[in-house]
Amino acid sequence: MKGYVQVYTGNGKGKTTAAIGMAVRAVGAGLKVFIGQFVKGMYYSELKSLERFYPDLIIKQYGTGCFIFRTPKQEDIDVAKKGFEEVKEVIKSGKYDLVILDEINIALYYKLVSLDDVLSLIDEKPENVELVLTGRNAPQEVIDKADLVTEMKEIKHYYTKGVEAREGIEK
Ligand code: ATP
Ligand code: MG
Repeated sequence: MKGYVQVYTGNGKGKTTAAIGMAVRAVGAGLKVFIGQFVKGMYYSELKSLERFYPDLIIKQYGTGCFIFRTPKQEDIDVAKKGFEEVKEVIKSGKYDLVILDEINIALYYKLVSLDDVLSLIDEKPENVELVLTGRNAPQEVIDKADLVTEMKEIKHYYTKGVEAREGIEK
């Protein structure tokens, strides 16, 4: 099966959950899935649930703490770079049908990984790999290379009323 490049971006809720939903669907179809979560280091509930799908689905984190943050430290950069090297191998191996790089756009935004490296990764992916990139502020160059781009548009979000990420719903 030919794999395409998908991007879920925008400020509205649903980017990561859409990617997770597709991962669950893919496992049901007997596909092999790899999810790399950039920037995130906390034990999000999806790790707990998706670990049940091992070894059909593998999920790893390449972040040091919680999500929206401060100026990145060297440690954040090191962890993201190491993660990027790992996902490069994962994609090249051709062992996974669906590879999700969650919050890679955030990693790009904070310059934890380089845009050129991500663009090369897209160019060099094997034909069969479906690649999904999530996170706010997808760079135009990534959007240009993708086959499918969805922008989650915030119409309303309780975040603005001070409701922070809740366990099981946002984290
Ligand atoms: P989900 O994981 O629920 O699918 P998402 O992937 O679309 O959401 P992200 O952009 O990854 O959303 O946001 C992560 C978290 O940041 C949200 O769950 C929310 O708690 C918080 N958040 C939402 N809106 C804002 C905002 N305007 N500013 C800062 N943080 C926000
Ligand atoms: Mg997200």
